[in-house]
Order: sequence, then C-alpha cells, then structure tokens
Amino acid sequence: MAKQDYYKTLGVDKNASADDIKKAYRTLVKKYHPDLHPGDKEAAEKFKEINEAHEVLSDPKKRQNYDNFGDPNGNMGGFGGGNASGFSGFGGFEDIFGDIFGGFGGSRQRTRTKTKGEDITIELTLSFLDAAKGCKREVVYTRNSPCSSCKGTGAKGGTAYKTCEKCGGSGQIQYASGSGFFRQVSVRPCDECHGTGKKIIDSCPDCKGKGYIKTTTKLDIEIPGGADTGSYIRKAGYGEASRDGGPAGDLIIVMKVEPSKIFRRKQFDLYVDVPISFKTATLGGKITVPLIDDVMEYTIPEGTQSGKIFFVRGKGIKSRMGTGDLYIVVTVEVPSKLSRAQRKALEEFDKESELKQYQKMKDYKDNMEKMYGKDPYSKK
Ligand SMILES: [Zn+2]
Ligand SMILES: [Zn+2]
Repeated sequence: MAKQDYYKTLGVDKNASADDIKKAYRTLVKKYHPDLHPGDKEAAEKFKEINEAHEVLSDPKKRQNYDNFGDPNGNMGGFGGGNASGFSGFGGFEDIFGDIFGGFGGSRQRTRTKTKGEDITIELTLSFLDAAKGCKREVVYTRNSPCSSCKGTGAKGGTAYKTCEKCGGSGQIQYASGSGFFRQVSVRPCDECHGTGKKIIDSCPDCKGKGYIKTTTKLDIEIPGGADTGSYIRKAGYGEASRDGGPAGDLIIVMKVEPSKIFRRKQFDLYVDVPISFKTATLGGKITVPLIDDVMEYTIPEGTQSGKIFFVRGKGIKSRMGTGDLYIVVTVEVPSKLSRAQRKALEEFDKESELKQYQKMKDYKDNMEKMYGKDPYSKK
C-alpha cells in the first residue's frame, strides 16, 4: 500500500497524461534537488517522494495497479493502511469482508499471508449397498464459523477497531538480524495485533472478540456410487474458521463402508458366493444371484463343479471411475442329514455310477495306481 498520494505529490490530477507527469516531475525535481537544499531534511524527503511517485506513474502497469489497488505492485492493502481514504482505492469495506468470507478463489492477492483455518475430518459410515449405489447424507458437525454479527472481525458491529499503530496496519514488523555482511531484514507478524493489522476497540459481544463462533453445521452430502472405506469427499471452506481472517479450512468426510453379508468387493468388481445343490450342479439349472439394486437369474450349465466361477460383465459397481463385473462363485453343498428314502435312492444312484463320469476321481485313481499300486476307490 502506497504511503503517499502519488498524484498529489506530483501535483497532477488522476487523468494526467504521461507528458503532464513528465513535465511536473522535471519541475519538481529541479525545485527540490538536494544540491539546492543542503542539510534540509524536509526537502530531501520531498525529493524522495517525488522520485517514488514518478517511478510509479511513469510506468503504465504500475500506474494501473496503483489506480486499481492503491499499490503499484497490484497488491491489496491490509486494514487501515494509513488513512481512511486509502480504502476508496479498492472498493471499500464490503470488498474486504467479501474476501474474508469468500476465502479461497479470491482474485486479489494480499500483502499479508493469512493462515487458512484447520481442516475438520469426520467419518461417515455407509452400508455396503449405499456406498455401492451412491447416496445422499446429511452430516452434522460443530466447527468454528466466522461470526456473522462482526463479519469475522471480532470487533463490535464489524467496525469498532482501529489500525494497529505498531505495524501501521500491515500486520507485519520488519526487523534486522545478523551482523556485518550477513545482516538481513526479515518480516514477522506484528505481535501487537497478531498480524491482523487492526486493534479492536470494542469486542463483538457475540463471539467475545474472537471473530468466530462454535456452530453446529448441517451439510447435505452427495456421495457418488462406488465409495469404499477410505474414500473421502473434501468440502472446501467448511472447516474451522481462520484465526486471522484467512480462508476457512476444509471439511473432509472419510467413508467407512460396512461389510456385506452377501458381497465381497475388489475395487468395483463384486464377488458373490452361491451355494448350490448336488442336483443343480449335476443337471444344471437356474439360480438367483444378487445385483446392486435387484436380483437376476443365472443359468448354471450341467456338470458344474464346486468352486467354479462365473463372470457377468458390467454387473458390478458403477462409478465415475468405471464399471465393475460380477463374479459368481458356486459351491456345491451336500445335505447334512438324509431320510431313509434319500439314502436308498443315493445308494441306487451310486451303483449306477461309473468312474469315467468323474474326471478328477479318475485322474486320482490312475495316479495312485501308478505310484502305489493301489485303487483308492476299491471297496475292501
Ligand atoms: Zn463477532
Ligand atoms: Zn500490528
């Protein structure tokens, strides 16, 4: 933020042409040249100001920045910035407060680096199907949000503060460190105003001068299909309010997906274990398998072995990142108790059976006979 009004310094008005500025500068330089005023501190200061004003106003880009932002480098000033009229150059109070609340995405750069508020992380538990399909949820959480009665300033009515004298409103203090060649000037936040550039005269009664209030925030969240444990949604600006007027932190909602009693999941692929009877496995038949939002019939071919996996393309989880497939893993389950009639029927059935109908048993028998000279299925 400029300390002086450059136009006033050169004695020209805001619409002055480049020529007018050059002329005014030459006249003033002659008038205040230090050679003409030896030992005159005021003249020396004036001479410095004239040169600074000329440097800015003779450079079209710097002049434009100065006109728009009150700063030749295009930076927006802090609160106060010397005198009240300093605000007029960049749109007055509303803009500044807008910047605080807008936080992120503000087009203007600030001279002070403000600290972003802290992020808040909350966990959201979803059922397996809700996560797979996608769903809407309302999250309720508490956070420090900017106080609306003082617009986050902490000052009563949003106006009961003055420019900090110690830093002149910049929020920064320059200090020198080191010595000799290694002497350097650094900048640190002003301890008087904690880097805000302003001092509160009357504290806001609602937030006790803090500028933020603990509030319960309700937020509707749209969770896209395919969320998995550890997936998260980031809501920018819904975290804690900044402590120095910077942008608020983010809300990070981390998903926790409950396991399913039916499905297993690998990325977007779904696996379902389907037990089938000896009869269905042998003769083939229709089985009913689950999908994300419905069920479907699937026809098992005859002679299906236990552990066989059937693949159905595109029937897994649909997400923005892609669509998964469905894997049907069948297991042949044998009955645990048989009636007398069943037992008899099975014995009959077995008598009719031949080993060539069983590929695995046949291979096993052949290998056992070759290596041990024994038939593992012979009834002794
Ligand atoms: Zn307040
Ligand atoms: Zn200060």
